[in-house]
Amino acid sequence: MLSPIHPDELAALDRAHLIHPVAPWRLHEQRGPAVLASAKGAFLTDNRGHQLLDAFAGLWCVNVGYGQESVVQAATEQLRQLPYATGYFHFASEPAIRLAAKLAELTPASLSRAYLTLGGSEAVDAAVRFIVQYYNATGRPGKKHFISLQRGYHGSSSTGAGLTALPAFHRGFDLPLPTQHYIASPYPYRSEAADDAAVIAASVAALRAKVAELGAQNVAAFFCEPIQGSGGVIVPPVGWLKAMQLAAHELDILFVVDEVITGFGRTGPMFACEAEGVQPDLMTLAKGLTAGYVPMGATMVSEKVYAAIADAAPAGAPIGHGATYSGHPVGAAVALEVLRLYQQGGVLANGQRGAAHFSAGLDGLRDHPLVGDSRHRGLLGALELVADKASKRAFDPALGLADRIFATAYRNGLVFRAFGDHILGFAPALTFTESEFELLFQRLKKTLDDVL
Ligand code: PLP
Repeated sequence: MLSPIHPDELAALDRAHLIHPVAPWRLHEQRGPAVLASAKGAFLTDNRGHQLLDAFAGLWCVNVGYGQESVVQAATEQLRQLPYATGYFHFASEPAIRLAAKLAELTPASLSRAYLTLGGSEAVDAAVRFIVQYYNATGRPGKKHFISLQRGYHGSSSTGAGLTALPAFHRGFDLPLPTQHYIASPYPYRSEAADDAAVIAASVAALRAKVAELGAQNVAAFFCEPIQGSGGVIVPPVGWLKAMQLAAHELDILFVVDEVITGFGRTGPMFACEAEGVQPDLMTLAKGLTAGYVPMGATMVSEKVYAAIADAAPAGAPIGHGATYSGHPVGAAVALEVLRLYQQGGVLANGQRGAAHFSAGLDGLRDHPLVGDSRHRGLLGALELVADKASKRAFDPALGLADRIFATAYRNGLVFRAFGDHILGFAPALTFTESEFELLFQRLKKTLDDVL
């Protein structure tokens, strides 16, 4: 146990020493941290004793809610029995093998092999490396260019951050690489397309045009999120994912679906791909895989890609990709229990039932003077704030509206996430009850009214 420390002293240590991910470092030093101390169910408590309803499942990951004893037990038992086992060479642990088999069973039929990572960024990074190997192995070494969506997020590894198309992840990092390219995101609220079919057609046309511009012989893959999360919870029309898969395959490029957020029941089914019968060549997973209890991700790979890489390697020579913690047994044991909770524990079904309360609550705020758009699928949703509903004009960023909303919500006992200055994102745990949804929207409405 750590010895007790005063919150002010802890804040001073934070300002002096801890580098925060995706934070304005200097501003943070002035403001100091919000230190989370404990959690149970849907609620967090900070180290000053303030209770918060977590409408974002941590960082869209704690899908099973906090304090699931069976998950704690799975981790504890694994820590006692075998806290570490390398996956290098021919070693393995039972949880890692069973998890790979379970993921092969749950993910679309096109995916049969699992490479287990520590999170989403590493899963994306592995996908890129496998794709490069695949084309070198199949005698098409020119296919090295990658296409992804504007406003897409694919983590912050040194290559993945270039597939990400958000300015903060490029600024000062010399990204994107010359091999990384973007097409417009399918963003119905901000699209000039007349209807959903036109939004889909515009995306397909943009992909075709980008491949034609680069030359199909030079393009390796198209990466996308089924719903763009960090770009502002941009929900494409139903049918978009399938249309993009068909186009990618016609264009002879690999189709990679990043389900780091949308996986594990977040949008309703176990995976967003399932809803549209999409069969990707690779899929990246993390977050809900272990519900954030310990770090773990996965890169799912088709047999075609796996076999090409495996067969091209010189006999007996290792394929040089791996890390000390690949397939960590504690992560794998936790993931197996979390997957059991989704299925046998009824968590997935509860999330599907909760989606009706969630969508009704968000849509109920459409008429609020600050709100231009509400959008959602399953338990993933957003409100987009506008200064003028008719013209959809955004608020002047100098107003710091999102910052004010976030601070007011915190005081009102609610946390979610703001994207830029105008989008509020929500991703409650799949375990939310009806009364927790009521509390969410009561506190959210009060917050919006308070900042009016
Ligand atoms: N891909 C997507 C779609 C994500 O949303 C994220 C993280 O938010 C990542 C990849 C990166 O995952 P991680 O933060 O676990 O590295």
